Amino acid sequence: MTVQPRPRVRFAPSPTGFLHVGGLRTALYNYLFARKEGGTFVLRIEDTDRSRYVEGAVENLIEALGWSGLDYDEGPGKGGECGPYIQSERLEIYRKYVGELLEKNQAYHCFCTPERLEEMRKQQEKMRIAPKYDRHCLQIPTEEAARWLADGAPSVVRMKIPESTTIAISDIIRGEVEFQSDRVDDQVLLKSDGYPTYHLANVVDDRLMGITHVIRGEEWLSSTPKHVLLYRYFGWEVPRFAHLPLLLNADRSKLSKRQGDVAVEDYRAAGYLPEALVNFVALLGWNPGDDREIFTLEELVREFSLE
Ligand code: GLU
Repeated sequence: MTVQPRPRVRFAPSPTGFLHVGGLRTALYNYLFARKEGGTFVLRIEDTDRSRYVEGAVENLIEALGWSGLDYDEGPGKGGECGPYIQSERLEIYRKYVGELLEKNQAYHCFCTPERLEEMRKQQEKMRIAPKYDRHCLQIPTEEAARWLADGAPSVVRMKIPESTTIAISDIIRGEVEFQSDRVDDQVLLKSDGYPTYHLANVVDDRLMGITHVIRGEEWLSSTPKHVLLYRYFGWEVPRFAHLPLLLNADRSKLSKRQGDVAVEDYRAAGYLPEALVNFVALLGWNPGDDREIFTLEELVREFSLE
């Protein structure tokens, strides 16, 4: 008999100022899965996009999660063995892993200016081809790149995507999904400000934090082939993925602030009880298989299944 390790899942929001109900649902499903399986629920703050930094956003998020009753086991303010749980405090870690990829020739420096990239994008649009980096800097000899770096030329690091390869994932919700590498861009991994992009930081942290199941919104499905390749480049086991269908308005547009209340704090201010909001959100994408509609958090833990 093989003993399955206890699952470790995470909610990994980017602090944008408030907790969206879609985010609450992602957090809830992670929480329910962890509690049901006797696993661990981690909170990780993905704040590497400095242009989107919002003062007080992390505190708001933690507060909204606490109000909803979704207590996490490891994360900011709680500690744990895999901290720090805030990505902006882990920059040295990401740099080390980028260095590894550069050394193995699975990533390269790109010195293209924003103007050149913009011009390239316009040309591609004119020619009606999908926007993708044209690999201009892949041709630069290593010594030359080293010289430019030493001279302080601004650069980013991109991952090298293999040509003509099929990348397959087996998603718990979506089933088998295949991607063609030729359609995948040479993703920027490290930005010129020294911060990692979401893709790199997300994969490195999921690995270092021992995440076994990645349960997140469907909007991240198209990024998954890049993530799978990164796991392979590092020689790491790929976690299981479960991509949750998007929450939509009645007209099937993406649920957004323009069309009414979407933040947990809006519902809170309107006088809804946390139990009611959690009950409501739980049923957006899951049902118990019969017509029951009212559940406490404990009942949800008992009944919940991702499949
Ligand atoms: N930081 C991403 C977000 O804001 C996390 C996506 C993921 O769970 O991989 O949703």
